[in-house]
Amino acid sequence: MGRSLPCIPMGCSACCRETTMPLTKAEAAKLARRTGMAVDKFSYANDLGILTLLNDETTRACVFLLTDSAETTAEGVCSVYDARPKGCQTYPYVLSENDTAILDEGCPHKDQFPPPSDDDAATLLNLEERILSESQDG
Ligand code: SF4
Repeated sequence: MGRSLPCIPMGCSACCRETTMPLTKAEAAKLARRTGMAVDKFSYANDLGILTLLNDETTRACVFLLTDSAETTAEGVCSVYDARPKGCQTYPYVLSENDTAILDEGCPHKDQFPPPSDDDAATLLNLEERILSESQDG
């Protein structure tokens, strides 16, 4: 969202570990083009039919995270940074249960981010709507 993030200077990859990040079909197609991987090698449909990034069995991190460790605090770099899904771009802003934008409790550096704006909420709501509608289309 055009802000300078603490993630890279802090060497933090916590949000890419044991990820449940959803993605749209267009984002999956872009990642498939970018990596040459089949969509089912990096994502699966969860119980609600929502396309979700897969974790590596060994590192328990997103399959796109370059890391050799399963430690939550270990460093890691996204290998598809410029093609990463919108949900990765907007994190640690997430939607609360009543559809307002909040900073996710799971982010260890959330205090270094400004409070979410109305634009953040609109972006997240649009993304959620797209993802839910795709999951219902099958
Ligand atoms: S796509 Fe990149 S930013 Fe998103 S969870 Fe995977 S490694 Fe992290």
